[in-house]
Amino acid sequence: MLVFEAKLEGENKQYERLDEAIRTARFVRNSCLRYWIDHKGVGRYDLSAYCKVLAKEFPWANKLNSMARQASAERAWSSIARFYDNCKKKAKNKGFPRFKKHRTHGSVEYKTCGWKLSEDRRTITFTDGFKAGSFKLWGSRDLHFYQLIQIKRVRVVRRADGYYVQFCLDVERVEKREPTGKTIGLDVGLNHFYTDSDGQTIENPRHLRKSQKALKRLSKRLSRTQKGSKNRAKARNRLSRKHLLVSRQRKDFAVKLARCVIESNDLVAYEDLQVRNMVRNRKLAKSISDAAWSAFRDWLEYFGKVFGVVTVAVPPHYTSQSCSKCGEVIKKSLSQRTHRCHHCGFVLDRDSNAAINILELGLRTVGHTGTLNVSGDIDLCIGGETPQCKPSRRKRKPTERSLESPTIFGTPN
Ligand SMILES: [Zn+2]
Repeated sequence: MLVFEAKLEGENKQYERLDEAIRTARFVRNSCLRYWIDHKGVGRYDLSAYCKVLAKEFPWANKLNSMARQASAERAWSSIARFYDNCKKKAKNKGFPRFKKHRTHGSVEYKTCGWKLSEDRRTITFTDGFKAGSFKLWGSRDLHFYQLIQIKRVRVVRRADGYYVQFCLDVERVEKREPTGKTIGLDVGLNHFYTDSDGQTIENPRHLRKSQKALKRLSKRLSRTQKGSKNRAKARNRLSRKHLLVSRQRKDFAVKLARCVIESNDLVAYEDLQVRNMVRNRKLAKSISDAAWSAFRDWLEYFGKVFGVVTVAVPPHYTSQSCSKCGEVIKKSLSQRTHRCHHCGFVLDRDSNAAINILELGLRTVGHTGTLNVSGDIDLCIGGETPQCKPSRRKRKPTERSLESPTIFGTPN
């Protein structure tokens, strides 16, 4: 799936109608959820049938395009299905589906009808009962490269600074890349965004910290306004615009860095961290969520697929404690920033040491994928090599060496 986004340019009256559509989509989703709570044993198809009932009962629900109504019911179902899934897994936090409230952000999803693109594909017209009309599309992407049938969904998204449309295209993005012959391990941390296995570091952007003061000031202003007043609405908008700015900066950073890492390596290994668990630690919370590791990871995996680069998430145990040279476990506290091995005498920066361990673990994890040529037990006999004995240091004659050189029998060539 490819997603293109463009801003919608129209008149205030039109935006109000889009708002109505968004509100209706939320109404359908919440009603479906209510129906599921009140009636035992309601399934996915019952919900989409219930959409018709809603459309008959409420005139405004009938205004929404029928496929958009279905999409809202599907949204309700996906949150129910996630809840069921968590129950099956016996997760601690099952996430009982919640009713959606009115927020600055919101969206409505159309499928293949209820909208129309103009000939030059620079304007979109919404054709359902809300009669929002035509909007100019503002964006850097060109829709001309794709067939109209490839557009599977059209989503209208409301944000603090306006209305956007997202086109979801049924296209698998694949890009060519020359192999670089490089592999990399990444250790994410608090001092740096990450340290790689070559010892290089990327600094933390700390967008949120920088904007913290401004956010605090704006939210204070919001709390001083009277409830329901126009000033309150204005103040809320200013605050959410600032949040939007921070989230855009963060995304921009993650996308660019992830793409750069993927394009210059053939294998990328990183820790399989449960960021959600770590954010619970209040002292570390701000830096961790600020650093936006999980977003970075998502983009790494996305670009890995696009460019055909192997991405490996390794279990995060002992990656910072083991010695990357001899494998001995050297216990250290969080404040100890250098790895000093008293077994082999290896000294290295703590994070670099971890990054090397992560890379090694990653390479071991990948191993072989695809069909194995050898069935069952591997009994490849390595000829001429004596098992685990002292390396003989004496010089050999060249003829002798060629006889003794390891020949592998039965290996697939
Ligand atoms: Zn060591």
